[in-house]
Amino acid sequence: MRKRFHKGTQVGVVILGAGPAGLVLGNLLLDRGVDCVILERRGRAAVEGRARAGFLAANSVRLLAENGLGAGVLTRGRAHGTCLFRSDRGEFTLDYGKLGQGETHTVYPQQELVRDLVAEFLRRGGDLRFEAEAEEISQGRVRVRGGAEVAGRYVAGCDGHRGVARRVLAARGVRTDRWDHGVSWLAVLVQAPPSLAAVGYALHERGFAGHMARTESVTRYYLQCPRGTDSSDWSEDRIWAELATRMRTTEFGPLHEGAVLEKAVVDLRSDVLETPGSEQLWLAGDAAGLISPSAAKGANLAVLQAELLARALHGALARGDEHGLARYAADCLPRVWRAHEFSHWMSTLLHGPADGGAEARYGRALQYARLDSLRTSRAHQDFFAENYTGI
Ligand SMILES: Cc1cc2nc3c(=O)[nH]c(=O)nc-3n(C[C@H](O)[C@H](O)[C@H](O)COP(=O)(O)OP(=O)(O)OC[C@H]3O[C@@H](n4cnc5c(N)ncnc54)[C@H](O)[C@@H]3O)c2cc1C
Repeated sequence: MRKRFHKGTQVGVVILGAGPAGLVLGNLLLDRGVDCVILERRGRAAVEGRARAGFLAANSVRLLAENGLGAGVLTRGRAHGTCLFRSDRGEFTLDYGKLGQGETHTVYPQQELVRDLVAEFLRRGGDLRFEAEAEEISQGRVRVRGGAEVAGRYVAGCDGHRGVARRVLAARGVRTDRWDHGVSWLAVLVQAPPSLAAVGYALHERGFAGHMARTESVTRYYLQCPRGTDSSDWSEDRIWAELATRMRTTEFGPLHEGAVLEKAVVDLRSDVLETPGSEQLWLAGDAAGLISPSAAKGANLAVLQAELLARALHGALARGDEHGLARYAADCLPRVWRAHEFSHWMSTLLHGPADGGAEARYGRALQYARLDSLRTSRAHQDFFAENYTGI
């Protein structure tokens, strides 16, 4: 039977953050009869309008569908199974949906997924409080900006990379292992149909450029840029000119241009918490570890971790059995590290060295050797496909 949270009582789980991790977790907990409340720092419109990810792995889609959360992604998402690599040595396409495990992505903008998950959480009778920023966590109690306090048997930190949950764990001495990929991307969302049928990865001596479909009329592009770049230095004209150069449109054909809807600089950094929680505080998604967007894994890891955490919390609350929570780290971390390993590999494939010395020449030659191996070796292609779509 589904229970409801009543003001003044202690809920089973206080969830911080209404991103993919918090919303999947909240929906799964409600479905298993666990009381929970979601506290979200931003307003509803901001949460539902935040464009980020777009490529969902087959496992994420299965998990959403099996838990009654897949109506939107199954009807409006589009299967996607090809990617294209372009450089001064030509281009080639990998039909990754037919390689490896034969799995594809589903293209579905993150903000639409978030909208679906908010609607379903509310339909299931969930308590979701917008503009409720968690400031402090002390055991099961969360103090919200403005002074209110919400108490839970457990707290789930799904409040992203800059949230309060990971700060609390850090203060408890939990180690963070991290890597700075040393590059940044100007992430641009444009009002224009995709220019390619495939995901596009262009290697260029001026830096990497990427192309990813979002919808039939919106496309995401990426341009590698130096650390410290200010997005306001990039006018629409400059963005399109640079994309044209790096994507070699003279040779391979023009891009569909349109108005720039959003532009932001993303520093490519990755980190993983040594353990994603302890005692009453457990983390999922970007809060537990940030992964660079080079292999489109972040939202997928968030969905996966939310499902594992929902099972563990349900076991603890329904049966008083905390073994699942004790195993949560062991369940998550090997998969998280597999995703990081592939994401790191992708980053070394996409980004060439910055300057022109002997080491840069060596690094560039390795980059091309990797690309050539991917173009010609079936074993390498299977490795790519399995890791690109797997989680
Ligand atoms: C440009 C870009 C492209 C990407 N593309 C992909 C892709 O194609 N595929 C993919 O899998 N991943 C992709 N990602 C990564 C993906 O978007 C993230 O990994 C994903 O959003 C993580 O979900 P989350 O729920 O853990 O965190 P978030 O989505 O960050 O949600 C956290 C929520 O917590 C709220 N919050 C923060 N602090 C507090 C607080 N103190 N109290 C209450 N609420 C709080 C925030 O407002 C936010 O709503 C991309 C990321 C970027 C930046």
